[in-house]
This record gives sequence, C-alpha cells and structure tokens, in this order.
Amino acid sequence: MLARPPAAHAQAAPPVRIGVLAFLGVEVALSTWSPLVAHIEASLPARRVVLTYYDVAGLRQAVQQQALDFVITNSGQYAALESEFGVSRIATLESPGVPSPSQAIGSAVIVRADRRDLNVLADLKGERVAAVGEDAFGGFQVAWREFRRQGVEPGDFARLDFVGFPMPRIVTAVARGQVDAGIVRACLLEDLARDGAIRLADFKVLSPRQVEGFACGLSSDLYPDWPLATLRHTDLHLAKAVATALLSMPVSPTGYAWTVPADYQAVHELFRDLQIGPYAYLRETTLQALARRYWPFLLLFFAALAGWIVHAVRVEQQVHARTAALRQALAQRDAAEAGMRAHQEQFDHLSRLSILGELSGTLAHELNQPLAAIANYAQSLVRRLDSGRYTPAILAEASREIAAQAARAGGIVHRIRAFARKRAAVRERRPLAELVREAAALFGGMLPGAPRIDIADRLPPGTLVEADTLQVEQVLLNLLKNAADAMQDLPPAERAIDVTLEQAGHHYRIAIRDQGVGLAPASTQHLFEPFFTTKPDGMGLGLSICKTIVEAHGGRLWAEAHADAPGMTFIFTLPADDPTT
Ligand code: ADP
Repeated sequence: MLARPPAAHAQAAPPVRIGVLAFLGVEVALSTWSPLVAHIEASLPARRVVLTYYDVAGLRQAVQQQALDFVITNSGQYAALESEFGVSRIATLESPGVPSPSQAIGSAVIVRADRRDLNVLADLKGERVAAVGEDAFGGFQVAWREFRRQGVEPGDFARLDFVGFPMPRIVTAVARGQVDAGIVRACLLEDLARDGAIRLADFKVLSPRQVEGFACGLSSDLYPDWPLATLRHTDLHLAKAVATALLSMPVSPTGYAWTVPADYQAVHELFRDLQIGPYAYLRETTLQALARRYWPFLLLFFAALAGWIVHAVRVEQQVHARTAALRQALAQRDAAEAGMRAHQEQFDHLSRLSILGELSGTLAHELNQPLAAIANYAQSLVRRLDSGRYTPAILAEASREIAAQAARAGGIVHRIRAFARKRAAVRERRPLAELVREAAALFGGMLPGAPRIDIADRLPPGTLVEADTLQVEQVLLNLLKNAADAMQDLPPAERAIDVTLEQAGHHYRIAIRDQGVGLAPASTQHLFEPFFTTKPDGMGLGLSICKTIVEAHGGRLWAEAHADAPGMTFIFTLPADDPTT
C-alpha cells in the first residue's frame, strides 16, 4: 500500500485506444491498419496506440463501456453508434478505386457466370442466397435496400444463409453451387481476383450499375466510406491531434488515406427505409412501443376518454335520478287520482242520497199508493169471501191487480236501491233519448204531481252516447227537480218542462226548460258554487255536482235566462259518439 508507482509510469500518458471492425478477419485488418498506427504514434510521440479488433457486437459493447478513445467501423455501424452513443466522425477513409469518400461502399450480388436465368435482383425470388450477417452493411443491408426497390424481400428467397465472416466464404459457396447467389461488399470479387484466389469470369453481378470512377462490379447505390470517430468522453486535444495526424497522413502503400469527414445522411436514409438500426422502432408495433412513441397522444386520448366516461356516468346518474323522480311523481299522481276518484264516488253517492233525502217525502207517498191499492184489493177480497159474493173472475181480477201493484212498488224500490247504491263510474254506450226518457220516468215516479215533461228528440234515431248512465241520469234528475221546484207556485196544469235533444257540432245538447220563477241576475254567477241555495230545505250541492259530472264527461253545463218568457233553461252537452271507435 505504501509502495508508490515508479515515476516513469506516473508520467507516461495512457495509450490511445482505437477499436476497429475486422470484417475480413484479424490478419487482413492488421495489414490494413498498421500504417495508421505507425503514423499516429509518430505524430503523438508521447502516446502509444493500442488497436483492438472487434466484430460488430464486440465493437458496440466496447463503445458502450467507454473502453476506447476512437472507433473505426463501416458506415452502417457508425450511423448506429452515432444515434445510440453519440460517437462523432473526425475523418473519413479515402479508398483507392472509388469516385469519392462519400461514394465508396456498395454491394455486389453475385451468381455464377453460367446462370443464364439470373440477371437482375428480382430473379432471385425462390433462390438460395448467402450473406455474412444481417448487420453487415455493404455485405447485406445495402443490397437489401436494392432488393426492396425491386420488390423482393428476404422472405421471398428459398433460403437466406448468414454464414459469417470472412466474406470470401460466400464467393466460394457461390462458386461451388452451394447457394445460387451471394451478397458481398463491392470490390471484394476484384480484390480476390487480383490475389489470384478466383477468376472474375466465373462470376457475374446482378443488376449491374455503372458509376464513373468506380472500378468494381456493383448492384447498389454507393455509400460513404469508413469513418474514424471519437467517443463522447474522448479528450478534445487528443481528438484534434489525431484528426490532424490523419489528414496529414500520406497515402498508404495499399492506396488508403484519410480526408475530412463525409456526410452519412445516405446511411440514415437507408436505415429508415429498411426500418433497422436506429430506426428499428418504426417497425415496432407492440403496444409498449406505440406507448413509448405516442405517449403524449395516448395521454391526451386517455384524458379525453376519462373525461367522456365521467361525463357519461354523470349523465347516466342524472337520467337515473330524473327517471326516479318522474316515476315518483307519476306514482303520486296516480295515488292522487285514485284518491280523487274515491272522493268523487263518495261525493256522487252522498249527492244521490241527498236527492233521495229531498225526495224521500214524496217517495213515501209514491210507495203508499200501490200499498194502499194492494190493501184495498185485499180487504175487498176478504169481505167478498166472508159474504160469499165472489166469482172466480173477481178473484182472478183482484189477485192480478194486487200483483201489479206489488210489482209497481217493487219497481220503485228497485230503482231507488239501484240509484242509491255506491258504485264505481262505468262508461257504456246507450241511446241518449232512451236514457232521458228513463230519467223522466223515474222522476215522474218519484214525484207525485210532477210537472209534465215533453221530450223533443231532434237527434237521428238511435243516437248513442258514451257515458256513465247513472251519473247522467243523476244530472237529469237534478235539473228536472230544480225545474219542478221553480214552478211550485204555478197551478199544476201550467207546470211543464221541455226537454230538447239535438246535435251541435261534436256535441249533443240537452236543454231543460222550465217556466218557473227564474233567478235574479246577481245570483246567476253563484249558481254552480257548492252550497249556493235559495231554498229553505236546499243543500246547494246539486248543480255543482252536475257540473262536475258533465265536465268529467267532456261536456259543459250552463244556465240561460229567457229574454221574453219566465223561467230558465239549463243546458248541458256531452261529446258526440264516434261510431268508428
Ligand atoms: P238546491 O236545489 O239544493 O238549492 P242546487 O245546486 O240544485 O241546490 O241549486 C242551487 C240554486 O240554484 C237553487 O237554490 C236555486 O236558487 C237555483 N236554481 C236552480 N235551478 C233553477 C231553476 N230551474 N230556476 C231557478 N232557479 C234555479
């Protein structure tokens, strides 16, 4: 712990670490880059240069771990590292035999020269194809873009083998017919031929292109040459020194030099086209990827959705509450109507009883008549039986009379009972004239000395009215009774009531006219008010009940005084019957 490192070590600057992609294998790389190492070391006397060779994945890892100061790689990996780790080019390689550093890398898709059937890239559908690897730039990706431009996708091949580095393996596989075609970096074929490894004439390049200044067979566009790039952490002075050294480096024995950095935009476009490398996210369609990319829109969408849900729930609640309120209101109304109906029935019943009460005296008298007649017949029969003055004819006649009188009394009782019975309102269709005549008969039967009733029926024969017969009868009885009351002071012979039935528009009109005392105009307006009466024994309910009943039937009740004659006319209407219903 106490041992201090020797001074020389402490002062020696750390080595300059350069990572290189070795696409042709380490031996080839060594010979390619050794002049570079020598030149940098010569330019930076105090620094040692350590060159390390990697495959694509290894180089990426070294950059990620910041184990390097510089990186030399193909344009494809450079563009990827630029996007991912911010590496930044300071020089671009200037290779021999290419038009410019920005037009240096291309792909050649090669087949054996004897394959007459294969001429363009599109011919490779359904064939066996080999390439070094999916992430090889000139060795695959550049060609891939061209295949796509000709409507061929990797899936259209019968087989696509990625055989790995070194690349010349592919040329061998094509030559041996193990595959139909191979994708290689442009100029590989020419390099191999120059070394005597193959004969150029044994191969041909598909969809060949001519680019001025480019001496090799080519199936694709050309892309920038390899760059040398600094990492984010690389010391700026070191970067500047290395850049200066590179630019001043003489052309190597193999013809390589370094120049100012090229534009790598074309590489980005290729990646975007193929949706790979830094643009691989373009093909991600998983929910997660979409969420990552579109989270602000998603956020907005979910906010809107949440808003909508809250709104919908609130509306639903309101509808619920209002429906409940409405239902309650309806229930209350139904209950109120039921209550009113019950009251009305009770009221009707009471009013019928009140009429009966008013008529009771006369009713007793009415019943008395048949009873007296029956008693008379019975007594005279007894007398005749006692005295023996009887014949079968007399006996039969008296018995018939007794039976008739008893039937008459029974009829009166029956009618009164029917009238006084408490009942629910029932609507039925009845001929109106018949109904009026029955009421008149009942009235005549109840009231001895009742005025004459003349009925003028101006309705078509058999005209029906839809009504509660007993209620209408009650109205008629009331009006007839009032008319009779009004004429009490007239000599019996002059008492007469005219009842007229006629149609007026959509209504039937029933008018009851008397010649009685009439009414003072001041009292007329109170006629229909409950408890208005001018009679000592009156209750003043009749007309108000009549009005209620008539209006419940959809009609009207009013009174008219006569301009030129004594008495009054009470008129009520009932809706005309619609024969279609
Ligand atoms: P009540 O007959 O018990 O008095 P109503 O409501 O039937 O009750 O009549 C109220 C009042 O209207 C009567 O007291 C009477 O003054 C007046 N009235 C009713 N009908 C006639 C009529 N035909 N002629 C004159 N006045 C009438």
